[in-house]
Amino acid sequence: MPIIFGIVGLLLIALIFGPRIWIRRVFKRHGADRPDLPGNGAELARHLLDEADLHSVQVEKTDLGDHYDPEARVVRLLPQHHDGRSISAVAVAAHEVSHAVQHARGEPAFARRVDLVSKLVWVERAALAILLLAPLVFLVVKSPALAILQILAAVLLQAIHLVVHVVTLPVEFDASFGKALPVLTRGRYLAAGDLPAARSVLQAAAFTYVAAALVTLINVLRWIR
Ligand SMILES: [Zn+2]
Repeated sequence: MPIIFGIVGLLLIALIFGPRIWIRRVFKRHGADRPDLPGNGAELARHLLDEADLHSVQVEKTDLGDHYDPEARVVRLLPQHHDGRSISAVAVAAHEVSHAVQHARGEPAFARRVDLVSKLVWVERAALAILLLAPLVFLVVKSPALAILQILAAVLLQAIHLVVHVVTLPVEFDASFGKALPVLTRGRYLAAGDLPAARSVLQAAAFTYVAAALVTLINVLRWIR
């Protein structure tokens, strides 16, 4: 019996952390400096934004992960993608610019995603409130079953993040393969030999939010501790 629990536990850990580890490895594998490329990630992002007539969209450096902020209209890139001259930097920059293009064109799937993600703040607050109230309820009612139910409710609420990011995956795939890859190919920003590597990076970039949502599930357990 303990062996089965061990195997299930290991599988669960692999399922939760696996995607994030895979994404980091892909970014790192194709993150080597390539002086032959025409520019770094920030320069390419600026160039592609200007090409798309999105002159007012800014490009910034961040430590919080590559993303496009639709409220501030800013493409934010990790330092290694902002300043790096690598396949990873180029592909990630093109991916994030594609979100700015989806936004500017008013694509309904992108608008739906932004709306859903903005609502996740409330889901997070509700999950936190339930968790913070759990010890109080336990003191008053003295029922561990109720406290466990509360923790379960918080985990389930947190799982909504995952559901939102899985159902909005088409927006990510459109950014990577509907827009970024054709732009990189057509504009000859990468040589034909570099395209398979770019494709892996674009695939990893598309799964970033799903991987992050999986890891936040574990954060609930961290709160409890
Ligand atoms: Zn994306």
